[in-house]
Amino acid sequence: MTTATVEAPTMVMPKLDKLEKVYVIWLAGGSCDGCSISVLGATNPPLEHLLAGLVPGLPQLVLWHTVLSLESGRDYLKGLYAAERGELQPYVVVLEGSVTNEAQIKDGSYNKGSGGFYIAIGEENGRPITTTEWLDRLCPGAAAVFAIGTCATWGGVPAAEGNATGAMGLMDHLGKDFRSKYGLPVINVPGCAPIGDNFIETVASVLLFLQGLTPLPEFDELGRPAWLFGETVHRGCTRAGFYEEGIFAKEYGDKECLVELGCWGPVVACNMASRGAINGVGGCMQMGGVCIGCTMPGFPDKFSPAFAKPPGAEISALLAKRIAGTFIRPLRAITGRDKDRSIRWTKEVPSGWAARGAPSVFDSAVNFFYKRIQKSR
Ligand code: SF4
Ligand code: SF4
Repeated sequence: MTTATVEAPTMVMPKLDKLEKVYVIWLAGGSCDGCSISVLGATNPPLEHLLAGLVPGLPQLVLWHTVLSLESGRDYLKGLYAAERGELQPYVVVLEGSVTNEAQIKDGSYNKGSGGFYIAIGEENGRPITTTEWLDRLCPGAAAVFAIGTCATWGGVPAAEGNATGAMGLMDHLGKDFRSKYGLPVINVPGCAPIGDNFIETVASVLLFLQGLTPLPEFDELGRPAWLFGETVHRGCTRAGFYEEGIFAKEYGDKECLVELGCWGPVVACNMASRGAINGVGGCMQMGGVCIGCTMPGFPDKFSPAFAKPPGAEISALLAKRIAGTFIRPLRAITGRDKDRSIRWTKEVPSGWAARGAPSVFDSAVNFFYKRIQKSR
């Protein structure tokens, strides 16, 4: 897992004493709107607290959203034009969904001569303004640019092999030299859908930085918040103990480790297992599902077919079964049985619930040597 963090970019720091308001221009590319739903479920803090300006130290957010804004049609477009003219200051851009390659229509390599487009928001003089064009017009003037969800960060499902739209992530579209008005590369919060609190927390951290209240949060070399994506799913999974002892689920609904049912958790950077989906509750393995690697740049192609056992699991699961399963687990069981008795219970346990007699000779022998080693330390 890569945990290296980038240096703070050369900042063209604004004179942003105390921000009263920050405008959030939320654009939609090739998406299912699931990221918006996730953010609506954030609890730490909830989006509505940010919109009401109730969070100490953070400016009030004014959301200009393709679905949630009350304004529609031309009234909605007014906000985008105002941001482009520099009348909404400061503003940040959030992209949900992948960036479609509209150029491949114009240059005739696809759908030649149709004059069509993939995704547009509004039109000018009868010409659709594609989301891709809005990004080109608005991102350079934004205080920060956020890509939310795996479609916007790396391309995701719309960019899967064989897609017709040339879909890609925002970083691919803007290029490695892109910097926001205040010097930041694209900030990536992946996930399909991402954890809403991951996104809100990242935005809040960047806003604190833009006001000069905190240092730049740590981002890894792919622009992910390092404190959220620095560990694998597996390291935070409540089923990892089963994996370590070589005990695996045979079918959905079993409580053990799911790797033999197709879980990619050991190699995937995601904090779903430790954070949960909403307010610490839910999440993939918590609800009995396998990790399909949805936060990763290689998703979905490099994780397909979904729900098939990862080839690497053949070796690691076999080793866990043979070594931990054959030797370590039985030894732990003997130690556990001993520690489950008070020092008074050398023979029968005086429980009225069930009979528990004296330890076996084998258990007593193992625990005799175990205790000697333990007390010698
Ligand atoms: S279910 Fe997946 S993430 Fe959890 S312990 Fe097993 S392999 Fe690791
Ligand atoms: S645990 Fe895996 S499938 Fe679930 S959100 Fe994280 S990366 Fe996606």
